Amino acid sequence: MIPLSLRGLAEAKAPYVVRLRTAACGEPGPDDARSVGQDDEGVAFSGSNGLLAIDGASAAMLDGDVVLVDPRRQRVERLLRAGSQHNTLVVTERCDQLCVMCSQPPKKTHVDRFALLEKACLLAAPDLLIGISGGEPTLFKEELLGMVERVISARPDLSFHILSNGQHFTEQDIPRLAAPVYRRVSWGIPIYAATAGLHDAIVAKDGAFVALQNGLAVLIMAGARVELRTVLVKDNLNALPELARFVAARLQFVEAWSLMQLEHVGFAKGRWANLFADHREAFAPLAEAIDYATLHGVRAQLFNFPRCTVPAAYRRLARASISDWKRKFPDRCAPCREQVECGGFFAWHPDDHANQMVQPL
Ligand code: SF4
Repeated sequence: MIPLSLRGLAEAKAPYVVRLRTAACGEPGPDDARSVGQDDEGVAFSGSNGLLAIDGASAAMLDGDVVLVDPRRQRVERLLRAGSQHNTLVVTERCDQLCVMCSQPPKKTHVDRFALLEKACLLAAPDLLIGISGGEPTLFKEELLGMVERVISARPDLSFHILSNGQHFTEQDIPRLAAPVYRRVSWGIPIYAATAGLHDAIVAKDGAFVALQNGLAVLIMAGARVELRTVLVKDNLNALPELARFVAARLQFVEAWSLMQLEHVGFAKGRWANLFADHREAFAPLAEAIDYATLHGVRAQLFNFPRCTVPAAYRRLARASISDWKRKFPDRCAPCREQVECGGFFAWHPDDHANQMVQPL
């Protein structure tokens, strides 16, 4: 697994954002820190915030990374990794749901880092797509939208993909979300069932389904770009065809519908036996849902499904969706000819289960 957080000692007292460069990078910009030496333990950088020593990395490994330095915690967070297409900024750890399979269980507290994250975006590499997640980012809607608008106004080459439960938009947001700057923004919105009873049970929040429909209506009227997301659990497996009919009838405007296999982390780890629906043994509801969506012009795709575990007719939909820093392939994948197209497994997926699931192609 690629480390996203490293130990670091800084001369500065307050948190700051800086771009790291090697000594060979030429003239550094005002927000760059340049490497001034390294050994087996790590590397030292110098910039306008003073000296910074980072353990467990080399200058070459970090060249071009935009990092957040937290001197008090002695941590360096690699917010935007150079050359990676999988950069996600967590804007809050607070959430107003408690999904049964949540991969990042929420916290009650919120640490406001919007100003630092905005600065990081402004230092991003050209044409980068930046993911935003939480918690629930729209609990801080004004801060979030303000950041997105300022960044895209200054850097129109950048774009954002924002994961949100979609429940905090109101009619008053429509003109704002219809502004040209939001053509650079897509929203990843979860929907787990076509009925309030099942959806609300999965997200553990009464009224969530109704609020989601209202939010989706706002996004439709604003002409927003939306990707629907449905995580597969035992409880909604057989309800997927009904959800496909709902999506095709009411939400045909979406750019894609992502059906996602469960992640073995967070709440799902302790509830695995009750939640994990083995699609190898029960692909029929998935196939029916995909066929119906496709027939009605909705682009369905499979996330977190190792390619060899999907019937051949649907394998092209299995995207390499797992971010590079948390992706792994178990030993049995070694001879597989489709590893390049395959997303493999999350790094924290148990090896014995992963090895048992795969069948090299
Ligand atoms: S054997 Fe491994 S690399 Fe090949 S398709 Fe299966 S999971 Fe992917």
